[in-house]
Amino acid sequence: MVYSIFESLESESRSYSRAYPATFSKAIGSEIWSTDGKRYIDFLAGCGSLNYGHNPPALKAPLIEYITNDSIAQGLDMQTASKERLLQVMSDLLLRPRGLDYVVQFTGPTGANAVESAMKLARKVTGRTNIVCFTNGYHGVSLGALAATGNQYNRSAAGLPLTGTTFMPYDGYMNGAINSLEYFSHVLNDKSSGLEMPAAVLLETVQGEGGLNAASNAWLRKLEYICKAHEILLIVDDIQAGCGRTGTFFSFEPAKIQPDIVTLSKSFSGFGLPLSAVLIKRSLDQWRPAEHNGTFRGNNHAFVTAAAAIETYWKNSELSNNIAIQSTRIDDWLTRQIIKHQGDIVKSKGRGMMRGLLCADPDKAARVTKLAFEQGLIIERSGPQDEVIKLFMPITTSDELIDEGLEILEHCLNLVFHKDIASPTPPVRQEVVLQQAI
Ligand SMILES: *Cc1c(COP(=O)(O)O)cnc(C)c1O
Repeated sequence: MVYSIFESLESESRSYSRAYPATFSKAIGSEIWSTDGKRYIDFLAGCGSLNYGHNPPALKAPLIEYITNDSIAQGLDMQTASKERLLQVMSDLLLRPRGLDYVVQFTGPTGANAVESAMKLARKVTGRTNIVCFTNGYHGVSLGALAATGNQYNRSAAGLPLTGTTFMPYDGYMNGAINSLEYFSHVLNDKSSGLEMPAAVLLETVQGEGGLNAASNAWLRKLEYICKAHEILLIVDDIQAGCGRTGTFFSFEPAKIQPDIVTLSKSFSGFGLPLSAVLIKRSLDQWRPAEHNGTFRGNNHAFVTAAAAIETYWKNSELSNNIAIQSTRIDDWLTRQIIKHQGDIVKSKGRGMMRGLLCADPDKAARVTKLAFEQGLIIERSGPQDEVIKLFMPITTSDELIDEGLEILEHCLNLVFHKDIASPTPPVRQEVVLQQAI
């Protein structure tokens, strides 16, 4: 048996390389090639860190020019021309048009580091320690963020007690059998409930790793109302659902809420370069210099591509409109699969281009994504038992490539669920089907 250098030298901690056992060397847009020349369609998109696809030309060109000109690569948190430009673009195109008066804190480059910073700031500002987070939430695996992450597999690796958080039921938890915010509101008001008054509530508007659970706009608005009433800070972790994934730059825009703190990472640089930020309501910016320190708070290459991404994709509503169109198309496809595979597929999940298919049998879901990889489609699963097939193509993917990817996936669903027939039923609106399925 010949072992590859990955198997012989890389730690057992590797994960995606096991699910997709090929060696990749080239990628353009929503396509990726392995060293043996095989082409794959990418419905994984770097787990949401490649929302604009691989090597988007409008970002690559300014980056190449920037490097060629010997511009600053690493600048700690010093003032650089590229950071100045990014801040200006964020102000002009992201914050002011949306009436958001945030200051921008560049943290260390990982999403978890931004979450750590957000949690620390909320505790510092309020003088309270507890942070309310939600069932099936995912916020990273450093100790503070891990305490807010539900996944038991990740939590069990902590090696220390994970403290300072309380989990509340997310919107729709237990198939909606409980009114989660009524419960939260009730325990906040009951001085004997045992709930430590929280500094903040931390949540994703759509839970990426937790199974594409999408909170409703009404639920988010009510949550904001409860937080305001109790002077609890509202932190939206927009690391996965943000940067256009759900159809607007910030995932919370349709709910018309204004979180106190927002975390950004994954697709913030737009190019797959590590870059994270915490957006903080001006009055809450009580940091003192270097309190939340970090060597790599100045990834200037990422500043260049982040500014280019915002200027390319968010100066008008063209991309947003296209995401809405693609979302409807994907929705119709999902509905057809639910009808065809009743019993095997329970329902569709998520919103925008953050969608999933909930499978009744997690093992079958695993077989589908494994088969898909063999047939040239990179796609993963999420959810408590990895039972949700996660459709996460770049939000810039062309109609043709979306259709080609969906065709492969449909074929794999047919094979695993043994229904190799074309759907006889025309697309029906999803709400109707959901009622039938439940
Ligand atoms: C990925 C993710 C994180 C953690 O980001 P890392 O860069 O992996 O540390 C935090 N929150 C959400 C919602 C994420 O999807």
